Amino acid sequence: MFLKKISNLANTLLFRLTVMHTVAFTLLAIASFAVFYYRIYAVTMERMDEELLEETEHHATLLAESGLAGLRSKMAEESEFEDPAEEFYRLLGFDGNVLFATDMQSWGSVDKKEALANLAADDADPVFQSIVQPRWDLEARMISAAIGPGIILQIGESLEEADEYLEIFRHLFSILIVILIIVSVFIGWYLARRALVDMEAVTLTAEEISNGSYDRRVNVTGQLKEIERLSTTFNKMLDRIQILLRSMKEINDNIAHDLRSPLARIRGIAEMTLVSEKPVEEYRNMAVSTMEECDSLIDMINTMLDITEAEAGVNGAADEQFDLVVLINEACELFRPVADEKRIELDCRFPESLSFRGVRKKMQRVVTNLLENAIKYTPEQGKVSITASVQDAEVVIAFKDNGIGISENDLPYIFGRFYRCDRSRTQSGVGLGLSLAKAFAESMRGMILVTSAVDKGSTFTLKFAQ
Ligand code: ADP
Repeated sequence: MFLKKISNLANTLLFRLTVMHTVAFTLLAIASFAVFYYRIYAVTMERMDEELLEETEHHATLLAESGLAGLRSKMAEESEFEDPAEEFYRLLGFDGNVLFATDMQSWGSVDKKEALANLAADDADPVFQSIVQPRWDLEARMISAAIGPGIILQIGESLEEADEYLEIFRHLFSILIVILIIVSVFIGWYLARRALVDMEAVTLTAEEISNGSYDRRVNVTGQLKEIERLSTTFNKMLDRIQILLRSMKEINDNIAHDLRSPLARIRGIAEMTLVSEKPVEEYRNMAVSTMEECDSLIDMINTMLDITEAEAGVNGAADEQFDLVVLINEACELFRPVADEKRIELDCRFPESLSFRGVRKKMQRVVTNLLENAIKYTPEQGKVSITASVQDAEVVIAFKDNGIGISENDLPYIFGRFYRCDRSRTQSGVGLGLSLAKAFAESMRGMILVTSAVDKGSTFTLKFAQ
């Protein structure tokens, strides 16, 4: 149980970010302290070397003033006041003979070879060496310098004092590192928490949504920039999903509604057939009506499938080159009888030919749907004009009528599946014509634009990049 809790904690982002922050912070602190400590150590060594050098220079002057015997007695005198464990002095001849030495019991066998090898030349520089006092295992510094003709002076000085001083630093550093680790754990935890609180809000909202509160959104103000972006994108995605859900619901409602009426009619016909005795001719008529209802249902279902396929970009027939004018003329001829019946003037204006690249069958349905609507929603003695032209490398086809028009409130929805404006409900139709026209036009790199005013008329314009 406890182990599970630990492993759960270790798997949290909060824990990992805190650990990463602490490790990075600690490594940085140790590296800075190491550099600092090394600098102090180097400066201490330099100082000690300077002191040793000064002492050799002092002894060289003594030798020059009072000769070897004088120097020896002076050194013997001075050594009485010194602690032999802290310092030693030794005079060597160039042959390696010891001419004088203070008490060197605690210094073991101090190296001569390097001094003799390096100081043979007249103008040789003094030699500095780090040695170890075997008795205490302490580090010490030693200088060997030629202080007169054939005479080498070696001075060794224990680093005990300097080490004590460095020890204080080491101690201080370790305490500071521990404090820094503790502080960095808190800072890391605070920063991670601060970033995650906002993310937590996104998670909470997602949870609420999954429990059914589809209207919930993440509050975007006052967040870190990255989280703000995440929240905004998340909210946008939710808006989109909500719109999709709504439109799916509408489609479902509409399908149910639009299927119910023809099905009810079919049932009514069947019922009448059962309950009443009628001449054979009437039964025939009833069968014809049933077939018509079924056909319109099949039509509706097929149109919906066509729209879905065009929107999904599947089963796209190959593009072909054809004359658009021929296609529009055919559509006009098809609808002319209906227009004539309503005494609507059909005004067609297009060039002799207009080459177009696209799917002919789709284009036929787009043109017939828009032309059919223009005639359907224009009262008797109205006017419908169709124009086609090329403008700025775009093929533009416009269907203009002076019919009932579309209100501003309805305009944004007319391309939605099954949407029908209230004023047009007296006319036949199921509200799929414009959805299909839009889906087909867009699948051929085109678009449909509409402008309309109630009781003045509408203009549907198709534009295709060629
Ligand atoms: P419908 O089968 O109802 O004609 P559409 O999808 O073709 O379905 O059109 C959707 C709705 O847009 C129509 O019900 C009608 O209210 C409106 N509409 C379409 N074209 C016109 C037009 N030329 N003039 C006025 N209203 C139109």
